[in-house]
Amino acid sequence: MSTNQEGVRDELVVDITIIGGGPAGLFAAFYCGMRDVSCKIIDSLPELGGQLKTLYPEKYIYDVAGFPKIRAGELVDRLKEQTLQYDPKICLSEQVRNLVRRDDSLFELSTDKGTHLSKAVIIAAGIGVFSPRPLPAPNAKDYDGMGVDYYIDSLEKFRDQRVLVVGGGDSAVDYALMLETVASQVTLVHRRDRFRAHEESVKQLYESGVDVKTFVELAEVHGDGRVEAVTLTNSKTKELEQLPVDCIVSGLGFSASLGPIKEWGLEIEGNEIVVSTRMETNIPGVYAVGDIVTYPGKVKLIATGFGEAPTAVNNAKTYIDPQAKLSPGHSSDRKDKPGDRKADPDKDLVGSMS
Ligand SMILES: Cc1cc2nc3c(=O)[nH]c(=O)nc-3n(C[C@H](O)[C@H](O)[C@H](O)COP(=O)(O)OP(=O)(O)OC[C@H]3O[C@@H](n4cnc5c(N)ncnc54)[C@H](O)[C@@H]3O)c2cc1C
Repeated sequence: MSTNQEGVRDELVVDITIIGGGPAGLFAAFYCGMRDVSCKIIDSLPELGGQLKTLYPEKYIYDVAGFPKIRAGELVDRLKEQTLQYDPKICLSEQVRNLVRRDDSLFELSTDKGTHLSKAVIIAAGIGVFSPRPLPAPNAKDYDGMGVDYYIDSLEKFRDQRVLVVGGGDSAVDYALMLETVASQVTLVHRRDRFRAHEESVKQLYESGVDVKTFVELAEVHGDGRVEAVTLTNSKTKELEQLPVDCIVSGLGFSASLGPIKEWGLEIEGNEIVVSTRMETNIPGVYAVGDIVTYPGKVKLIATGFGEAPTAVNNAKTYIDPQAKLSPGHSSDRKDKPGDRKADPDKDLVGSMS
């Protein structure tokens, strides 16, 4: 990859650039392959999968057609397998900051790493860019990735470890219950005595081997380059307690923000982009799908994003090439059967590329 003096990448124009590699963006990228249009996915996260990979990879999903039950992380793996067979360009850990239409009708997407050019754009940015809510101990961020995690992408990592879970919502309680199956010790601290999590999960928590400490907060993290212990503080008695732990998992959740998207001249209602039945925004050539869109009757589900993605891609195809048919035909009639292609399993490990 080369850049010019302004730090702008070599101008490689793709037909469709998809902002966001969550389920809706991934399925849209697959459909680009079905319609023989070149495509690029840009995501601010280091991995594909959006909310499923970041917020709940170990949870089961029950309402995706064709899967009576599937773990979120596995659904992402299946989507990647389906999508990557068409070899889309993938740019990870890269946030799209600006989108403008140039005089030559190409869209210019500026990111924190460079510039991309595209004939059409599909915004699949979900609830926006995620950032983890900070842990209460001021020095906890010094241990990010060194024993402090903000979500669980693999339970195995915690096998035989002493884990502290922080929080009182669904994520914290679910994490504690999941970790109990592999960790040698799980302690959950919550600053109140009332949990926001599902009653049934809280009941399970108190029946489990998790050591639940209420009115307790994480005050300080200790360790030489890695988490080794924590100081906990009891908000009622003001007592301090030292607890040896190997890992801390924050269940405090993430905040998400649409951020710069609101400045791109799109028609926005609340935190959502208004789209037509073609999934087109008020800017011709810019489409949007998934959690980020609104229209009368919109429901925010993976299944609805999966429906919106082909609508957006097929309409974008006719925007790029007005002679093209809107209808893609049936995938089962194709000579080149999509499922027969082989995806490169390491594809999304490449990080950012133009
Ligand atoms: C705990 C939990 C459980 C859920 N369970 C279910 C369920 O059982 N069934 C169901 O149907 N739905 C469920 N959902 C909702 C479901 O996860 C969402 O509907 C789905 O993830 C939306 O997909 P998406 O592709 O639109 O957006 P997302 O998954 O949010 O992905 C959007 C992506 O865009 C990226 N992005 C955003 N802005 C930018 C930018 N400016 N530049 C670059 N990248 C950007 C983000 O990093 C993210 O990766 C659940 C949600 C949660 C939190």
